Amino acid sequence: MTAAPSPDRTGGQPAASPAATDLAPGRPIVFRNATVLTMDDAHHVLPGADVLITGDRIAGVGPGLAVPEGTAEIDATGGILMPGMIDTHRHMWQTALRGYGADWTLTQYFVWNYLQWGKSFRPQDIYAGNLLSAIEAIDAGVTTTVDWSHNLHTVEHAEAAADALQEVPGRFVLAYGNIQAAPWEWSATPEFRDFVSRRFSGGDDMLGFQLAFDVPPAAPDFPEKAAFEVARELGVPVTTHAGVRGATGDDGIRLMHEHGFMTPSTIYVHAATLSADSYNRIAATGGSASVSTESEQSAGQGYPPTWKLRGHGIPVSLSMDTSVWWSADLFAAMRATLSADRAREHLAAHSKDETVTHHFLRAEQVVDWATRGGAKALGMDSLTGSIEPGKKADVVLIKNDASPVMFPLLHPYGHVVFQAGRGDVHTVVVDGRVVKYDHRLVGSDLGKARQVIGQTVEYLQGELGPEAWAEGMHPEIPETRVLDNPYTYTYRENQDSPS
Ligand SMILES: [Zn+2]
Repeated sequence: MTAAPSPDRTGGQPAASPAATDLAPGRPIVFRNATVLTMDDAHHVLPGADVLITGDRIAGVGPGLAVPEGTAEIDATGGILMPGMIDTHRHMWQTALRGYGADWTLTQYFVWNYLQWGKSFRPQDIYAGNLLSAIEAIDAGVTTTVDWSHNLHTVEHAEAAADALQEVPGRFVLAYGNIQAAPWEWSATPEFRDFVSRRFSGGDDMLGFQLAFDVPPAAPDFPEKAAFEVARELGVPVTTHAGVRGATGDDGIRLMHEHGFMTPSTIYVHAATLSADSYNRIAATGGSASVSTESEQSAGQGYPPTWKLRGHGIPVSLSMDTSVWWSADLFAAMRATLSADRAREHLAAHSKDETVTHHFLRAEQVVDWATRGGAKALGMDSLTGSIEPGKKADVVLIKNDASPVMFPLLHPYGHVVFQAGRGDVHTVVVDGRVVKYDHRLVGSDLGKARQVIGQTVEYLQGELGPEAWAEGMHPEIPETRVLDNPYTYTYRENQDSPS
């Protein structure tokens, strides 16, 4: 930690904040007087601290930092500065239909995307969804997002996905998948290999690469083996939906384990409905779980599993899954995850006529999962996930002077989880570059995203036709049977037959 006092600062008063135009890439930046959640190993919280960024790195953390001449000073008084959040699983292409599936179950999602309409998406539709999703991520303070891109039915679709991610100044990982074909088929094609070597041979830490596919209860000969071997040969991780009720389960985990494909870089998405034996295999091989609490709660993959993962010592990161229901808002993920874990704990206790007097899971832990946990899951812990000198400058300033919710600031972790929201994201820096400042995006073309999304929505409405479009958005509601209520009955009786 560098903490040399600045000779030119007087009385601890921060300098006036610069205009967005003064924050050109390359100019050093210092945040003055923030409450800094470092998320370092000891989880140091530093009140009244500065964070200096030079180039793409964090250069100093501490009170009253001396800064190079020409440094832009951002007044962070009253704000919380924390590492950029990391979403380890989001189907970014689906942001093209933001909110369309708000009332879906997982079954309806599968039918609509996998069986009926997923194939209708053209490369430009994947591009449109990814572009909007990527901008939404950085706007919400999510500086790294894994694009779990499982509708790449041609390499042109993959080019479009990667193009959009590279157009937006965030950090992304393209997790390549294709629900329209078997993983051992698409990963074996020369076009796929050519795409990977063309676009991912440079070691660019702004755009990583993974393979994304699932292992459903399947053929005993484990055909997915060939796809795992491709990942191994390319030296890239596999991310897989595991422990999803009705889709993937213990069989897939056992096959992966028996064939030696469970590694510390493997990410098990949801991991909600597995046996103790499967959790033991994940823990023993060092993999991690990506928990999408809002998704598990609404879609029905299984109860959000952090209460079980904690018991097995499995590392956790957080994710939002898809904006076809939810959004890129990791504040929502932290809040839902903490609440779901506690709700489960209370229910379990109440079923034994006991009372929980002390919570196991703390706000501090879910902030860790949303930041450092993601970096560790992605093998990027030496790069990002904490505010420490030498790390890449991926940081978020939560500050909103117009909001009654920003004070008093007593419990910074609790404030992040239960008080703040993405509307309070004031400034976002990715790789040393300011991408949002004073609540406004910098360097992202939202107008272009609006235009291409409009074209995609219009095209998809045309493909489906008005009836299927409306039916898809408004699935049938099962009949609700209202239980007999003796009091209501008595009341009616009295009303109908006055005495
Ligand atoms: Zn998913």
